[in-house]
Amino acid sequence: MTSSESQPFDYLFVGGTVIDGANTPGRRADLGVRGDRIAAIGDLSDAPARHRIDVAGQVLAPGFIDSHTHDDNYLLKRRDMTPKISQGVTTVVTGNCGISLAPLAHANPPAPLDLLDEGGSYHFARFADYLDALRATPAAVNAACMVGHSTLRAAVMPDLQRAATDAEIDAMRALAEEAMASGAIGISTGAFYPPAARATTEEIIEVCRPLSTHGGIYATHMRDEGEHIVAALEETFRIGRELDVPVVISHHKVMGQPNFGRSRETLPLIEAAMARQDVSLDAYPYVAGSTMLKQDRVLLAGRTIITWCKPFPDLSGRDLDEVAAERGKSKYDVVPELQPAGAIYFMMDEPDVQRILAFGPTMIGSDGLPHDERPHPRLWGTFPRVLGHYARDLGLFPLETAVWKMTGLTAQRFGLAERGQLRPGYFADLVVFDPATVADTATFERPTERAAGIHSVYVNGAPVWREQAFTGRHAGRVLARTPA
Ligand SMILES: [Zn+2]
Repeated sequence: MTSSESQPFDYLFVGGTVIDGANTPGRRADLGVRGDRIAAIGDLSDAPARHRIDVAGQVLAPGFIDSHTHDDNYLLKRRDMTPKISQGVTTVVTGNCGISLAPLAHANPPAPLDLLDEGGSYHFARFADYLDALRATPAAVNAACMVGHSTLRAAVMPDLQRAATDAEIDAMRALAEEAMASGAIGISTGAFYPPAARATTEEIIEVCRPLSTHGGIYATHMRDEGEHIVAALEETFRIGRELDVPVVISHHKVMGQPNFGRSRETLPLIEAAMARQDVSLDAYPYVAGSTMLKQDRVLLAGRTIITWCKPFPDLSGRDLDEVAAERGKSKYDVVPELQPAGAIYFMMDEPDVQRILAFGPTMIGSDGLPHDERPHPRLWGTFPRVLGHYARDLGLFPLETAVWKMTGLTAQRFGLAERGQLRPGYFADLVVFDPATVADTATFERPTERAAGIHSVYVNGAPVWREQAFTGRHAGRVLARTPA
């Protein structure tokens, strides 16, 4: 026994079921932590420990990795990250959908960049400045940060409603290079959104060139998730092939009633692409989405709820149909006078949601919008909803598979080394939860209710969530990507 092995564990979890994040069956085992690492897993019941924690009846799993967040600014503003740690999340991937807080100095960023803003928050002219701020004032969770193509456009282009010129592409590529060199794990695009809708495929490829040299990842909120979703998938695959980089299809869904059932078409296309190139996807476990209030989405949705509204804050939480009727307008025509605003859209089919969640390679990402006054409940409920509602109650897949989709699979796809699995030597990002009671309690009516059944959460060996409260430990780190 070496001297470090004879040291007591800092934390010893005894009597629980270990689900290791590798999609292997859960087993009865104890787990010891020293410093920021998992030191041992096995029968450790007689080992000395500074803190011995009885977790009988509980599951011990790797901390969940939220593959799809808009937490860029929230990490700095609300460092406790309660919406995330209360669910067992220990790492967030930021900069999604083409939107990142850096690099951009802008007093009044265009929608949807304003989804991240709390007024004056866009003040990091270099990506390195943003990462330095995160390191100087860390949050409770780890962050793996991407740079957004729409943010680059806003930084470089005076007019976003056109394709970029060659000089603008060069300028965006230089900013992307700075971001990747300073520690971004990849680049995201959101050609669905107005600031990037006019970007050509060629523009995206040329701006994203630094991904190829830095081993980065490409994540995309595709140009179309409705009628033209197949063309959007083909564009996504082409960008990945031309750059020779891994691609992530963000929050995969098929939107609008005419498209219900089309996951039967998209998933085989994704699977076929996976045989040729590196493709991943994630999804959130709800039939409603949420983003800026947008006329085209209002038309696709069965029901629309306003999540925030700058000119009329009282409308947060109201049904758009009611608001339109009060103003004597159609729901389509009332949208412009409510801007800027955000909304929840009921626009998916439950069988599609279940088919996509159950698809083997699908990771779990919340897409939560943490600054919204009345957020989509996915912000507080995504991970327990998959564990409780979809795995335990509906039996969509085993609990071990649910855990894998939010831990080991995600760490592997995003290149987050020594995380996402319970293994000796790996970082001690841990969640203890009760498999019988774990559940989302946040609803569209009460969207900020805390998850049930989350016992405790540890980040880099430090407890961050215990007895339903933040412990005060800002234990998160900025994570690098280690390509496989
Ligand atoms: Zn998105």
